[in-house]
Amino acid sequence: MTSPLASSRPGHLVLILGHPLGHSLSPAMHNAAFRYQRLPWTYVPVDVAGGQVKAVLELMRDPKLRGANVTVPYKETVLPFLDRIEPEAKWLGSVNTIYKKGKRLIGTSTDGEGFLRSLGPWRKGLKGSKGLLVGAGGAAKAVAGALAGSGVRSVCIANRSSRRAHQLKKVLQRRHRHLAIQVAHLKEAEKIVSECDWVVQATSVGLKKGDASPLSLKNALRSTWAVDLIYHRETAFLREARNRRMPRLNGVGMLLHQGALSYEYWTGRKAPLTVMRKALLRNLAST
Ligand code: NDP
Repeated sequence: MTSPLASSRPGHLVLILGHPLGHSLSPAMHNAAFRYQRLPWTYVPVDVAGGQVKAVLELMRDPKLRGANVTVPYKETVLPFLDRIEPEAKWLGSVNTIYKKGKRLIGTSTDGEGFLRSLGPWRKGLKGSKGLLVGAGGAAKAVAGALAGSGVRSVCIANRSSRRAHQLKKVLQRRHRHLAIQVAHLKEAEKIVSECDWVVQATSVGLKKGDASPLSLKNALRSTWAVDLIYHRETAFLREARNRRMPRLNGVGMLLHQGALSYEYWTGRKAPLTVMRKALLRNLAST
């Protein structure tokens, strides 16, 4: 690991800690924003070897370091080394953003709110709605918490492993007592989708080119909106939504907005969304 403090560039640094980091689009997005706002800041990927997380977080107490994003596989690993963890991140059991108050390192998660912001005008329609969440991993949990906090009336969780779906139901129900939560197998969910206002695909199926969709939308209404958290390509899930002329979104908006929220934590400034979106899309096109 090269010390980020060894950077010859002036100004402040923000890190992204993970392993591996080759594919990350965040440096392009944040560095474009820093340049646009004429901040002498640099966003530096730090590919951290296992066992070095604590040492890197100690380095972050240096005033030159203003914060970090944390990605796979360290979103949980960082927790014991932080001075404070915000309630949302505590509930999720994971942190994607570290910001500083003086030397203190504070962990938070911007995934849930980033997802909600990505919905744009659809966000207003969440209150009282019914939907289907496909997946029960880390991203699904963040999305489930955000949806439940937006007044959704009922959600069905469908996941390959029903044990994980039941675990998510349990933690979600504890926090949102009035939310009606159902767990279904993926095949059953294909029927349930006919009663849904929205369906969110939050599994990693579709990350690989040629992946089939985890469930068919053949019973979905034309008014049901579909979101896939994957942003790398049009997934089979979203292709089917397009063919059925359903309103739909990919994960670019969530990636953008979770990043913009992190940026606001670090800099205290409103993030330049247009600039960040352009940088994201440019880099996505070249991957
Ligand atoms: P996790 O590893 O925590 O969860 C993976 C999920 O995918 C689980 O529900 C798992 O089911 C399911 N899954 C994996 N393989 C299969 C398969 N072959 N068939 C059916 N289900 C499968 O990953 P995350 O929750 O962190 O990420 C999920 C996706 O969300 C990723 O594609 C990631 O890129 C995307 N994401 C996008 C973000 C954005 O900003 N747009 C932010 C964060 C994530 P099981 O429990 O049965 O293993």
